[in-house]
Amino acid sequence: MSKDILDLAGIGIGPFNLSVAALLDQHQHVDAAFFDRKPRFDWHPGMQLPGARLQTSFLKDLVTGADPCNPHSFLNYLVQHRRFYPFLSAEMPAISRREFADYLGWVAGRLPSLNFSHGVKSVTLEDGLFRLDFQAGQTPVHARNLCVGTGMRPHIPPACEALPSDRGLHCIHLMEQDRDFSGQQVAVIGGGQSGAEVMLGLLDGLWGQPAGIRWFSRRPNFEPLDETPFTNLYFSPGYVDTFRHLPEQRRRELVHYQKLASDGISPDTLRALYQRLYEYPLEHPGRPVPELLPGRSVYAVTDGSPMNLLTRNRVDDQFEEFQADQLLLCTGFDHSLPPCLEPIKSRLRGDSNGRPRLQPSFNLDWDGPDGRTIYTVNQGRFSHGIAESQLSLTSWRSAVIVNHLLGHEHYPVSEEGLSVRWGSGTPQTTAQNRQVPRRTAQMGIESF
Ligand SMILES: Cc1cc2nc3c(=O)[nH]c(=O)nc-3n(C[C@H](O)[C@H](O)[C@H](O)COP(=O)(O)OP(=O)(O)OC[C@H]3O[C@@H](n4cnc5c(N)ncnc54)[C@H](O)[C@@H]3O)c2cc1C
Repeated sequence: MSKDILDLAGIGIGPFNLSVAALLDQHQHVDAAFFDRKPRFDWHPGMQLPGARLQTSFLKDLVTGADPCNPHSFLNYLVQHRRFYPFLSAEMPAISRREFADYLGWVAGRLPSLNFSHGVKSVTLEDGLFRLDFQAGQTPVHARNLCVGTGMRPHIPPACEALPSDRGLHCIHLMEQDRDFSGQQVAVIGGGQSGAEVMLGLLDGLWGQPAGIRWFSRRPNFEPLDETPFTNLYFSPGYVDTFRHLPEQRRRELVHYQKLASDGISPDTLRALYQRLYEYPLEHPGRPVPELLPGRSVYAVTDGSPMNLLTRNRVDDQFEEFQADQLLLCTGFDHSLPPCLEPIKSRLRGDSNGRPRLQPSFNLDWDGPDGRTIYTVNQGRFSHGIAESQLSLTSWRSAVIVNHLLGHEHYPVSEEGLSVRWGSGTPQTTAQNRQVPRRTAQMGIESF
């Protein structure tokens, strides 16, 4: 195998591609390299709020669900840091985001296949191979297969698009620098987990003492994440298999219906927030009490000092006006393929909404040369379901991708378990559905 041509080039090194890299680290005959534009690994540093906790079990780490003996597991991280027994005694139902970020950074530091400060500028096809050119002008690389893991783009609501980015600030950038909102009217837009965490930060005086705080949410109330057992089955391989066989329209409806299984607020966060709000007038006598405004869509924002917000109350269908000096947009993220894929985008087949169509093994449907596969992670919310943008199935998805790349089922990816029959057809195992082609030589090598 030529060392000049990679078997797999990964674009982006967030947790999802990091997991693919961690599994591939055990397959030394696969020549893989991953590239990220950042100078070092960092997990959403702009949202590392003090006390923020993972919404997912620590066992859903980069590798354990696929390969529990893999040395890049969270448990091995604890052991290597001499924290295993102290961790057990802490009896934490959810670990801190800071600790999980530290674990991810520890894994990143152990993988020789990672290359930072390598922003990918463009991907083209050259002599039947992918050619990656870099933003900083480093030597281009060629690869037989790609794994695109560039994450999601912060969503700015249309009403806020014209605002300067520091006045309509997306929360993902909040902790990137010191900020002081003292004396300002602050409006938090968005009633999900990020909105709740930002509210807690404001109440704790993390960014000074604002003159007023308002929290707007489109949802009719500040609603909890559903973490109960049957709902958690949406985050299982068996459910993903049923989901991806459904008609497109049905899948869209289900993603909408399952919103609170992935985007609700952790009950612990809700409780802490409620208690802080209850105590606020006692702790801060004379200060205006934060105002909670559920059921409102931000309809229009006029820039100025202060800004003027026109909202529509979805409960009684009335328009209301508010003023704010600072907007904190906790408005989520959009899925989109990165601009570097633009040169080959016309060759990708999309669904009726123009979203890239994903095959069972997370490979894009495209008309490229035989044996050239583009895998994606975090692009399949509407093809594989709501688990796609969460950590829950990270290691399983990586195992599916690595199996497909290797051309055989190296990692077990089918599941036996509770007999919930999601679909009405004959139940099939995950393995039957996935149809891993035996020895398809995705890497152009015959030696597996
Ligand atoms: C604050 C926050 C908390 C979350 N907490 C949880 C949780 O508790 N549980 C859960 O299940 N999910 C959680 N999620 C959702 C999800 O797990 C994370 O968003 C996760 O980081 C997604 O991983 P990713 O690898 O797809 O993308 P990202 O982590 O966004 O990483 C993408 C990487 O691609 C790089 N990149 C982009 N373009 C290029 C390019 N052209 N060239 C090179 N590199 C590029 C970026 O620099 C970045 O490092 C959370 C999300 C957020 C925002």
